[in-house]
Amino acid sequence: MSAAAELALEGLTKRYEGAVAVDAVSLTVPRGSYVVLLGPSGSGKTTVLNMLGGFTLPTAGCIRVGGADITTAPPAKRPTATVFQDYALFPHLTVAGNVGFGLSVRGMGRGEIARHVAAALALVGLAGYGPRGIAQASGGQRQRIALARALVTEPAILLLDEPLGALDLSLRRQMQDELRRIQRTEGRTFVHVTHDQEEAMAIADLIVIMNAGRIEDMGPPARLYERPRTRFAARFLGESSLLEGTVAAAGAGRIAVDTPCGRLEVEGERAPGSSVTLALRPEAVRVGAGRPGELALGELAVEEVVFQGGFVRVTGTVAGGGRLLAKVDPQSLPAGVARVPATVRAGGLVLLED
Ligand code: ADP
Ligand code: MG
Repeated sequence: MSAAAELALEGLTKRYEGAVAVDAVSLTVPRGSYVVLLGPSGSGKTTVLNMLGGFTLPTAGCIRVGGADITTAPPAKRPTATVFQDYALFPHLTVAGNVGFGLSVRGMGRGEIARHVAAALALVGLAGYGPRGIAQASGGQRQRIALARALVTEPAILLLDEPLGALDLSLRRQMQDELRRIQRTEGRTFVHVTHDQEEAMAIADLIVIMNAGRIEDMGPPARLYERPRTRFAARFLGESSLLEGTVAAAGAGRIAVDTPCGRLEVEGERAPGSSVTLALRPEAVRVGAGRPGELALGELAVEEVVFQGGFVRVTGTVAGGGRLLAKVDPQSLPAGVARVPATVRAGGLVLLED
């Protein structure tokens, strides 16, 4: 596949009677990216994946890979392979029979199939497991078998629907690292669906946040976390304090906003008098004596302090009524302190679009 083999979705839409599952989704993914579709249940993630895999026909819009239109191509004629949410393994076949199934359907010779199957099983850490039955396989092994079965066809694009959802936490973390490793060594495009924001941040080059069939925000994890575009994105990916306010003054790409934490200056453009929402990530908020360049948020009446190892999680309210969440160094909040000045570092305040 050439470098032009990027994946492009243009106005991709799926309507069911009375409901729009996916609503005009447009997106371009460079070849070799790890893309995560992240969103709550019902936001349209599986429907997008099924349209990419050829299992659901779009109502409108198109899908291109390297410029070629594959919108209506049958699954077997696409450069895609899918790891289904329930793995969909064949219980009556051995591990090798499952992994090699697609290759035998394509008419590949036995010897060649055996070589490809062995390589795919090695890639997922199951070398030598070929002759075993499926019934004895653990949840983690089934997940790897399903992954090997998809990888063995050497798809340009691997589609994974909640692939780690059935695994326990430690196995999930381990498989996240492995998926990332496999994606890097193989240089394929992965499109991975999850509702787990930590998983998305841990593995994605590009996160696409979905809400009610639409793309709410998309970008590299750090950009999405540090500068969420919308209220939904600020809430869904990590935690934020949200401050409602009114623009008091505007000019030169900055606005001053009257908020329950006082008048705060932030990058952005809005007419004076507009209602706006500002988001603050808990890591951007500090308590104690302010440092140069920080914006004062007022005195915080501490309501709850939770020790979380490397940091403490503090919630409280400032005099003007603003509710704040901060994750701060345990040293900066002596035990039993009831009131403490709070500040936010410059750049830690973000103007939301809605
Ligand atoms: P997600 O994977 O994000 O949980 P889905 O893509 O499965 O979301 O579903 C998106 C929306 O489309 C949901 O409201 C769901 O009820 C609806 N939907 C999905 N498949 C069908 C179908 N076959 N018929 C009718 N509605 C459907
Ligand atoms: Mg789903």
